[in-house]
Amino acid sequence: TAGLYLLATPIGTARDITLRALDILASADVLVAEDTRSLRKLLEIHGVPLGDRPVLSYHDHNGAQMRPRLLALLAEGKSLAYASEAGTPMIADPGFDLARAVREAGYPVTSAPGPSAVVTALTLGGLPTDKFFFAGFLPNAKGQRKTALAGVKDVPATLVFYESPKRIAAMLADAAEVLGAEREAAVCRELTKKFEEIIRAPLSELAQICADRTLKGEIVVLIDRAGSPSVSEIELESQVSEALETLSVRDAVDL
Ligand code: SAM
Repeated sequence: TAGLYLLATPIGTARDITLRALDILASADVLVAEDTRSLRKLLEIHGVPLGDRPVLSYHDHNGAQMRPRLLALLAEGKSLAYASEAGTPMIADPGFDLARAVREAGYPVTSAPGPSAVVTALTLGGLPTDKFFFAGFLPNAKGQRKTALAGVKDVPATLVFYESPKRIAAMLADAAEVLGAEREAAVCRELTKKFEEIIRAPLSELAQICADRTLKGEIVVLIDRAGSPSVSEIELESQVSEALETLSVRDAVDL
């Protein structure tokens, strides 16, 4: 039936795809991809036959022309499956305008959730995960980057950024200057891939480490919120409250 499926695809390891995403890839009438070559490769790896189904390209630069074409396919009763190049569509990737147009035209939009670098970095980075603020990619120009950093300085949550390896050292140096040298931060690199690495340190130290080393690959940066108690302080606090609870239970029993 006519509708749009938004499929999450792996961010590094091909087997990180859900069974449901594979089912949809096998059965949708039309496949749509930000990068048609990556999607064809994924189908090949998982032995999903394409048959005579088209794989159409949809990305930021052709979205306006493609949307009417895709809506016309929906009007013919076709189901569409959309995958961005990697991870979850719309998370620093195209798909938002497409999903909105499909919804406005009255067709269902369904998600097959799965990998995203934001959540993967949070689970591995070692910074608090109770609240986070995804800030996407910062502007490349230094002045604009510092203004954007100043704008999130007081957000009471772990800050999450996507950054290119070319700019990581400069970005961290600016972050140390604007947000404070002592804030705990983590560089999460090549997640789910062979050279996966987490480097965690206060911002100024992390900036120095990244200036001394040439980091390659894909990177997520996490920065702790302002004035956050360190993780060990949080653990200590919960140990203290547990101890107090045990104490009052014991006292109650004694009485
Ligand atoms: N839609 C994707 C998602 O759900 O994470 C993100 C697409 S965005 C164009 C690509 C950026 O995501 C990279 O520059 C990097 O910052 C981050 N990223 C993607 N895969 C990653 C990985 N395996 N390890 C670390 N960062 C990754």
